[in-house]
Amino acid sequence: MASERFDVVVIGAGPAGYIAAIRAAQLGLKVACAEKWTTPEGELALGGTCLNVGCIPSKALLASSEKYEEACHHLGEHGIDVGAAKLDLAKMIARKDGIVRKMTKGIEFLFRKNKITWLKGHARFTGENDGMYGLEVQAAEGQVQVDARCVIIASGSKARHLPGMPVDNTLICDNVGALSLSSVPRRLGVIGAGVIGLELGSVWRRLGAEVTVLEGLPGFLAACDDAVSKEAWKIFTRQGLAIHLGARVGEVTTSKKGVSVAWTDAQGAAQGLDVDRLIVSVGRVPNTDGLNLAAVDLGVDDRGFIPVDDHCRTKRDNIYAIGDVVRGPMLAHKGEDEGVMVAELIAGQKPHIDYNTIPWVIYTSPEIAWVGRTEQQLKAEGRAYRSGQFPFMANGRALGMNAAEGFVKVLADAVTDEVLGVHIVGAGASDLIAEAAVAMEFRASSEDIARVCHPHPSMSEVMREAALAVDKRALNL
Ligand code: FAD
Ligand code: NAD
Repeated sequence: MASERFDVVVIGAGPAGYIAAIRAAQLGLKVACAEKWTTPEGELALGGTCLNVGCIPSKALLASSEKYEEACHHLGEHGIDVGAAKLDLAKMIARKDGIVRKMTKGIEFLFRKNKITWLKGHARFTGENDGMYGLEVQAAEGQVQVDARCVIIASGSKARHLPGMPVDNTLICDNVGALSLSSVPRRLGVIGAGVIGLELGSVWRRLGAEVTVLEGLPGFLAACDDAVSKEAWKIFTRQGLAIHLGARVGEVTTSKKGVSVAWTDAQGAAQGLDVDRLIVSVGRVPNTDGLNLAAVDLGVDDRGFIPVDDHCRTKRDNIYAIGDVVRGPMLAHKGEDEGVMVAELIAGQKPHIDYNTIPWVIYTSPEIAWVGRTEQQLKAEGRAYRSGQFPFMANGRALGMNAAEGFVKVLADAVTDEVLGVHIVGAGASDLIAEAAVAMEFRASSEDIARVCHPHPSMSEVMREAALAVDKRALNL
């Protein structure tokens, strides 16, 4: 039987792949997308890590746990007495699962709307013939062969596991199990104080767990601006997260009672940690299993990523790779932007991405967000800069919202005043950072931000004040 031919076949329907497929279809190309994700109920689903076991479910639980904490500890400050709040964890998890389902079904709708063929199963390269790439998709009903003029690999990533720490997603969990615990552990251990460790550690702390985090590096949140890491350290430890830096994890044993972790502290002293559950969040690794890259003469680099150039082109004509399976931050919006870029390239347009203006967010409470260079990076680069910082404490809206922790910090070139980096720790930082990303895309100066009328009272006034502070003219401090 002849294989069906497509202009573009995308492998993977996470945020990188499904966005690439939609954009390519919008541009008039005939598109198919292979996706094999299977839910615990055995249903095939689109959306990848992000929608199924990443961004979306984690943010649903963050919001629920923040509401619970507020009801338990903070509504009284507003003069509202709701008595003792009661947690229905099963309902909370079911709400999260409902949001995931709504979102993944939404992508099925978008695929239908854009006439994208969903190839339901695992795709692998079979070779190349006459300028077309052959792919085989292993579906439940049998194998499907397709030919593609262009292929976009968007196969994503999976949790990195550690030797001697077998993840069963019951006692020892990666992100998958950590988003669906059946009860709130009394004691929770977390290996790795990175994004997932802090976000999910905070969720379970807010729901009542005693959380201990073991981080291998001697520094805390090394990718953040130093001022932000210091502030975040103060806030998170005050909230009750016990974080140990410079920890070396040794033997891990499980029993009916839970998990025991032998570890060595930064001073070299032997320590033990007994917990009911353990989350292992030590980074993610690219997913290239079973793609049969060799059939099209492709391989991976020493860290497992598919090598690409600035435009996500592999060394093979018309084969692109995007998202977590290539270099750069493992962020959904970075993958989405690469998806749009590659689809537009295939359609003959000339898009590009400025990787320096991709914002980062850590959804703790308060949130952390940044874009551009950190102060320590500017120092290392020998760049002359000026810095302005303004606290949420001096903002009326923040006080009214009981969200006065943290600050905005703006870094600008000492000569041109161009904004080089913006760093926020504070409530709603994920939304506030968008203004900074727009400013940097347009190569705005701190003076430009300071001259823009910001609504009053709003958290965004802190951005303006921090921009004014670059020139030592903050008005409300
Ligand atoms: P993925 O989302 O991993 O999707 C890849 C898809 O490809 C998968 O569905 C997989 O089944 C499929 N696939 C792989 N190989 C094949 C094959 N051979 N055939 C068919 N299908 C295949 N990022 C943010 O920006 N913000 C956040 O708040 C955020 N929160 C996160 C929270 C958690 C707990 C985790 C784990 C991650 C989070 N991330 C977040 C990271 C984000 O989820 C990833 O950066 C993003 O999902 C990467 O998108 P992707 O499309 O490259 O890959
Ligand atoms: P991460 O890279 O953010 O953090 C991993 C941490 O584990 C690091 O601090 C590392 O030093 C530490 N570590 C590594 N090995 C260790 C060991 N043996 N013992 C103790 N500590 C160890 O990784 P993550 O938290 O697993 O998240 C994975 C990826 O998912 C991130 O890179 C991020 O891009 C993405 N993600 C993003 C968001 C977001 O955008 N808000 C949220 C969650 C995940």
